Amino acid sequence: MLILVCNVGSTSLKYKLFNMPDPSIMVEAKIERVGSHDSAIFTYQNHLNGAKENMSGLCMPSYTEGINLFLEYLTDTKMGAIQNIEAVQAIGFKTVIAKGYYGIHELTDEVIAAMKEYISVAPAHNPPYIEAIKKFKEILPGRLLVGVFETAFHTTIPLERRMYAIPYKWYEKYGIQRLGFHGASHGYISRQVKKRVGGKFKLISCHLGGSGSLCAIEDGKSVDTSFGFSLQTGTPHANRAGDLDAYIIPYLLGQGLSMEEILQGIDKNGGLLGISGISNDLRDIEEAAQDGNERAKLAIDVFCESIVKYIGAFYAVLGGLDYLVFTGGIGENSAIIRHKVCTRLAHLGVELDEAANTNGAKDRSISSSHSRVKVSIIPTNEEVGIAQDIFDNFSK
Ligand code: ADP
Repeated sequence: MLILVCNVGSTSLKYKLFNMPDPSIMVEAKIERVGSHDSAIFTYQNHLNGAKENMSGLCMPSYTEGINLFLEYLTDTKMGAIQNIEAVQAIGFKTVIAKGYYGIHELTDEVIAAMKEYISVAPAHNPPYIEAIKKFKEILPGRLLVGVFETAFHTTIPLERRMYAIPYKWYEKYGIQRLGFHGASHGYISRQVKKRVGGKFKLISCHLGGSGSLCAIEDGKSVDTSFGFSLQTGTPHANRAGDLDAYIIPYLLGQGLSMEEILQGIDKNGGLLGISGISNDLRDIEEAAQDGNERAKLAIDVFCESIVKYIGAFYAVLGGLDYLVFTGGIGENSAIIRHKVCTRLAHLGVELDEAANTNGAKDRSISSSHSRVKVSIIPTNEEVGIAQDIFDNFSK
């Protein structure tokens, strides 16, 4: 089944074409600086015939031009991989959240309306997706467009772990509950572990990147996660605060801050950036910490403590632990964070192989031979996760 996966950013479009169930990428492309009239960038690679393109200084005022350009290349006799766009059976999107639609859904007008309803919950993600999906509908009418919502993998979390202790009516009327995100990534990691060890396992997947979340997984199913109703929860993120006492907000309002200033603080100027005052990029913070910067050290410690707490909680929820997996930009690359977290988990049976933690293949085991819990780095591949979900749900 030919599936095109499209990842939409506020100023970017990324594409990967798969012929599922084969997970190899046939074609990939990226368009950056969508919205610009003279500086958009297009990179394209056809892995089947080696054709490549790299163009900059392009005029790309909207997603429409970015979609058209990619489709032109995809069907070009020299550059392309298919003769006609009709060959693509589904276009998949890593959509984030829609009220009442938490799984894998065809992107009908009702689903798009439900995404609109939750724009205030995912203000950075829903508007660009809605716009790009509408453009795809205009350009390719009648094509199967599928939203693999970031909440989808978490629909197996039992109600007692999804419910907040709020008036029940808020859950019924507004859908307020722990939904969880990063489903494409945690789902991919879960499938990878299943392939390696078989069906029965207790796993904690730590996706640590610009956004971070942990997921407790039992036998391939999500049973708890650190993200809540919005992406503003859980561990500290690059710019976002993560878990926060709700009453900080009315207190700060009372101190004269506007709602806009408060939201800016917890959404853009919080997280690793907020504590360190240096950067939202962990590489800069690690460098400053090595030079003795106290706030950089504090940012790293707060981040690791939060991860340790969630791992402890999920250990209790799972009733034990077989596998601990690190993934995402930080999880895959920061030996410091993995070391700091794992040394705090010795009492749970976690023991790192320090040499393997520091060096080795991208996909590797980093626990010692005595470690009761197997610890690994598995590079995430959200696009393959999305293509697999679409194949599993729509190929029959
Ligand atoms: P996103 O969540 O935006 O997709 P990624 O998963 O790519 O981001 O993670 C990006 C983050 O990974 C960067 O902000 C950086 O902090 C971190 N990172 C990448 N490489 C390293 C490294 N070698 N050491 C420490 N942190 C790293």
